[in-house]
Amino acid sequence: MAVAAPALARLMGTLARTAERALDWILPPLCLSCRAPVGRQGELCAECWRGLRFLHPPWCDRCGWPLPHEGLEPALCAACRAQPPPWRCGRAALVYDEGSRGMIVRFKHAERTEAAATFASWMASAGEALLAEAELLVPVPVHRLRLLVRGYNQAALLAKHLARRSGVPWSPDVLVRRRATASQQGLSAAARRANVTARAFAVPARLRHRVAGRRIVLIDDVQTTGATLSACTRVLADAGAARVDVLVLARVVKPATIHI
Ligand SMILES: [Zn+2]
Ligand SMILES: [Zn+2]
Repeated sequence: MAVAAPALARLMGTLARTAERALDWILPPLCLSCRAPVGRQGELCAECWRGLRFLHPPWCDRCGWPLPHEGLEPALCAACRAQPPPWRCGRAALVYDEGSRGMIVRFKHAERTEAAATFASWMASAGEALLAEAELLVPVPVHRLRLLVRGYNQAALLAKHLARRSGVPWSPDVLVRRRATASQQGLSAAARRANVTARAFAVPARLRHRVAGRRIVLIDDVQTTGATLSACTRVLADAGAARVDVLVLARVVKPATIHI
């Protein structure tokens, strides 16, 4: 028997709420950062919440870097004036610092995957303008071997939740990592650039048609030097993407270079 769409939506909503309550019963909700008890799954305690630094305008049109005041024309940071990134427009929800690092590292190592829905909601706010015009969300891929070890790709999880929120389709397979690069942790900026070359990423020939002519938003968890995102952007552009924007959960913002 066919079920009318509104009735089906109500039923799905009831099931989702029941599942959430069941999850709360099995897994008491804990702060995404410090694991103190909180009211609901996917929340932070008041203290950890105060430690987060959300990025908001005025920001650099090109890369989302905080600008000291509004009204700059064009609204570009010093770095983008000197050498703009290969992507059209980049946004980050948070500053990657001591307030957000622990929460994100836990998420990266598969302990707190339920955090993805919360993180995606913050990213959707920061990247509202990008998502409104996007045609495809593409997570930065991890190599198959690393996927086997870690069990999931945190960028893909964020892309999946962003797709659910925004209605923009996502694709975890149009961009692949061809060979395992050494872990980026502890490397200098120059070493990272050398480590991540455009050769590390590829769009499989049989999937190029899904990239060609599309407005794409690249999704990742943390932007440090931007070397990985630059390599991915170039590969997608070479495959014919109409444009590539970047949306990340958190970005390293060095206080000394905020001022233009
Ligand atoms: Zn906490
Ligand atoms: Zn900039």
